[in-house]
Amino acid sequence: MPELPEVETVRRGLAPVMEGAVIARAEVRRPDLRWPFPERMAERLAGRRVLRLGRRSKYLLADLDSGETLLVHLGMSGRMTISQPEGAALVPGVFHHGHPAQAAHDHVAFHMAGGARVTFNDARRFGAMDLFPSDRAADHWLLAKLGPEPLGNAFHEGHLVAVFRGKATPVKAALLDQRVVAGLGNIYVCEALHRAGISPRRKAGRIGAGRVAALVPVIRQVLEEAIAAGGSSLRDHRQAGGEMGYFQHTFRVYDREGAPCVTPGCGGTVRRIVQSGRSTFYCAACQR
Ligand SMILES: [Zn+2]
Repeated sequence: MPELPEVETVRRGLAPVMEGAVIARAEVRRPDLRWPFPERMAERLAGRRVLRLGRRSKYLLADLDSGETLLVHLGMSGRMTISQPEGAALVPGVFHHGHPAQAAHDHVAFHMAGGARVTFNDARRFGAMDLFPSDRAADHWLLAKLGPEPLGNAFHEGHLVAVFRGKATPVKAALLDQRVVAGLGNIYVCEALHRAGISPRRKAGRIGAGRVAALVPVIRQVLEEAIAAGGSSLRDHRQAGGEMGYFQHTFRVYDREGAPCVTPGCGGTVRRIVQSGRSTFYCAACQR
């Protein structure tokens, strides 16, 4: 399941092809994904220039010259693929595969003026798209309640200390709460708590302010390292069929149950527990 770094990697991969470019034609091959597509989506996208391709939490946001914004959510299994006509001029960051035949689960295709094609493939169909007036983005039901971006200025020590104060939920659940910080998922919460030496079971409100504050730079670092890994995966993209956002990471605790803890001098073992129905990986020896 793509988390924030994967979505940011997709955004960076799509930007050279989509930003400033015109969607000559949009092909919408089914009525819905997780929810119905917006009315007349293909018509509303056709001929529109993408002014800016942004991201909020795990949502890609393409601002169009029509004054509307296209929101794309990859869901559980959504993939964006770029293809170019054979023999297209080389553009840095653009991948060349020739247009492949339509594959199973290719639900939407954006045919860009100039020949590039951006295809949205989603086997499980938990993805979503929406179109709404750009000036109403802050009120959109998927965006309105989101907390600050973890890599933005509004996510700072004072914010996290304030929202954790008095919270009786475990810190793991508190960090997964999208109102606390937007876009953090299971993997990077486990990784950040391990680096910060904080037990995922500890109640958020019972962690000292200094340790809570120290979580902020750790969360940023974990995400930035993953985005950097995604960036290198973009450069090595030729073998991956133009598909972006899924890349190999080295995790310190995530999915390493039973493996030795990598904290120098710790000697502990990574454990898996279930919290709110989801796996948590941590080291009980160095996370307190
Ligand atoms: Zn440890």
